[in-house]
Amino acid sequence: MNLLIVGAPGTGKGTMSELLIKAYDIAHISTGDMLRSAINAKSALGLKAQGYMDEGKLVPDELIHDLIVERLGRDDIQKGFLLDGYPRTLAQAEDLDHILDGLDLKIDAVLDLNVDEEVLAKRITGRRVCPDCGSIFHIHNHPPKVEGVCDNCGAKLYQRHDDTLESLKTRLTAYHQSTQAVVDFYKEKGLVYMIDANDEPSRVFAKIEAILKELHK
Ligand SMILES: [Zn+2]
Repeated sequence: MNLLIVGAPGTGKGTMSELLIKAYDIAHISTGDMLRSAINAKSALGLKAQGYMDEGKLVPDELIHDLIVERLGRDDIQKGFLLDGYPRTLAQAEDLDHILDGLDLKIDAVLDLNVDEEVLAKRITGRRVCPDCGSIFHIHNHPPKVEGVCDNCGAKLYQRHDDTLESLKTRLTAYHQSTQAVVDFYKEKGLVYMIDANDEPSRVFAKIEAILKELHK
């Protein structure tokens, strides 16, 4: 099963991705993670990517293309894969189509996570992070035992500078501008499944499982 997951910041895309790869034993393909590991490994691709990032530029599509071709050539995708954070633009979506055609593969479903803006706002502005161990808390959904203090290491929690309402609005606008064309591209192919992700994670995942079960009938 080959899936693509899309969702604005705060829609729980990371959590759903983790659950999906475990439940279906599929490979998690995140271009962000792949770029980071290529850079850490100082591979030829990684060094090239680092060069662009050092100049404050976006990593060009040709490089992302090479990264994806290499990744889809590995044999851990036999049971399928979950694409996360890619394709980001219409050009990348069209390119991916060509790559998959060449490998005799196709996308089975695009999972589009949707959360109401006020719910997103609550999720994002309530988030508190530990600077030392990286633990993440939430003032309502997952509060620490002592207010403002990390349960694991006792450090003082802080709010990330982009976990504010204003920053959320900017990020949402940017997200919709870039992702809409990608979603429309797959809608035309009849592959997009809108998922109401306002619920708690276990319920959202149950909805996804129901959709995938239907697909496999
Ligand atoms: Zn901590």
